[in-house]
Formats: sequence, C-alpha cells, structure tokens
Amino acid sequence: MSFSAIKGLDKPLGILKACIDNSRLEAGYLFTGPEGIGKRQVALALAKKLNCLEDKADACSRCSSCLKIESNQHPDVHIISDDETQIKIDVIRQLQKEMSLRAYEGKFKIFIIDNAHNLTAEASNSLLKVLEEPSKGSLIVLISDKPGLLFRTVVSRCKVVRFSPLKRQDLEEILKKDYKLDTGYAHFLAYFSEGRLGRALKLKEEDIIIKKNNLIDKFVLSSKSGAESLASAARTEVRDSLNLLTTWFRDIYILKAGMAQEELINSDRKIELAQSASRLSFLDLDAIFMNITNAVSYLEQNVNTRLLLYNLRMELWKG
Ligand SMILES: [Zn+2]
Repeated sequence: MSFSAIKGLDKPLGILKACIDNSRLEAGYLFTGPEGIGKRQVALALAKKLNCLEDKADACSRCSSCLKIESNQHPDVHIISDDETQIKIDVIRQLQKEMSLRAYEGKFKIFIIDNAHNLTAEASNSLLKVLEEPSKGSLIVLISDKPGLLFRTVVSRCKVVRFSPLKRQDLEEILKKDYKLDTGYAHFLAYFSEGRLGRALKLKEEDIIIKKNNLIDKFVLSSKSGAESLASAARTEVRDSLNLLTTWFRDIYILKAGMAQEELINSDRKIELAQSASRLSFLDLDAIFMNITNAVSYLEQNVNTRLLLYNLRMELWKG
C-alpha cells in the first residue's frame, strides 16, 4: 500500500512525509499505538516510498521495487518479526552486519522491528550502538504497542510517531465507502475494533460477525448450553468471545438506560437485545459484568477454560 491508499492515519503519515520532503530522515523511528492500528502497514509504505523507482510524490505500487516490498521479497527491506517472546542480540548483530553492506538494489536499507518491546537488554544495548552510529542510507523502524517496556535510551534515539485510533463514526464511513461493507457490519466492526482499521479488517477476514452471532445464539439466547463448542477453542479465541459477550450486555445496558441507539454495537440484533433488556434488571447486568470480568482475569491465570465457561454460562442463566 502507498501513503495515499492508507486511510485515517493522516497525522503519522504527515509527520513522515514532512521528514522525507525536507530530507530530514532520522536513523530511527518508533511507531507506537494500539495493536491493529496500521503501524506495520505504514512502515512498509514508508519503505516503498523511499525505494520506489518512479520519481513521484507517492510510491507507484507497480514498479519492481514496490512489488517486491509488497510480497516481502525486497533484499533491502528487512522485517524482524516473530512470535518469540524475545528478540535476542544475534538478531541485532545480523542487522548490524546487513546494515554495513551496501544496498543491493534499493536506495534505502530499511529494518522494521515489530514488537520491539521484546528486545532483550543485551539486544537493546546493541541496537542503541547502531542508532548512535547509523549507516547512511539506512533506517530502522521500531514498532511497539508497549513503548513503556523499551529502553529509554533507545527511545531517545528515535523519532516517536504516535498512532491514535480513529473516531468510530469515521472508521464506519471508511469501511462502508472503501471496503463496501453494509451499514450494520461496518458499524459493528468500527465499534468492536475500537477505531482501529487494521484490527477491523482482520476481524472481517475472520468473519467475526458470523462468529459473534453464533456465540450470542448459542451461549446467551439458547436455553441449551453452548459452552461446549466454545470450550474447545483456543485461549485467545475465548478471550475474543468474552469481549463479544461484553458488547452484548453493554448494549442491553444502553437500551435499558435509554441512551441513543446509534451507540449500540450489535445493532444487527436489536429485537433480541430489546427482549433481553426487558428480562434483565440493572442488578442482573451488574452481576453479569462482574462475572465476565472475573472470567477474563481467570483466563489470564491459565485456568481450565472448559470449567470457566461452564461456570460463566451458569451465572448468565441464573436470572
Ligand atoms: Zn514504485
């Protein structure tokens, strides 16, 4: 994707454009902001813009350089990203080695370090040296949604670019206009992703609205327990499901409190929401929220998910 194709991130893009236009690129950037907001996408767009073979204001997305970056095959654009919990010193040594070589075919060598808060102390110190004596024509982009865990010294060597969520209404409009989603789906995604476009698109790929409605049907609305099917799901999926359940009961609360219906997240299920709202009291809802919150914290503590969901389901159906 090029800068102009990225929606809703005008502020970070503006900062980067100004750096490029004024030929004031830093050796290190730190992109911060919530997960799923588009930090990595912007890092790649920056790599494309700096290496595009067409001499235009924005990356062309057609030249061999742009295409190679898009397919993660450009020899001068390195993405350091794995699901390991630590980024070790060997990785930074390798980066240092790569950096000392001339660019193979690009104008810039770019190193994108995703989840940079996973750098070990040794790796951070090593990276600090690289940032203190950068090679010309090289650029390092650190990406982190937990910048507080990074070494202060490393942060101080980087230009920090903050990414903020979009207003939900704005994201809803983007999803309708640019991704051709119907109003109900766009509204749900914009709210459930908390204004993060990347997260919204990932959820769309996962058919979240089908999953969500299945969950509500089986776990909340059906008198038969749907806990079994959910219990076999992965822990992260269970967490997502608990978040979905929270949106459901939050909506019931909003209806009962007589707040604006535009605030409903599950606006595709207004009838069922209204039915539940007449059945549940505010006290019931308080108890339900407490039970879901407890379930989320138990989940963090590695308890048996089957038992956890069974108990939660019992609590939801007490009333
Ligand atoms: Zn290009």
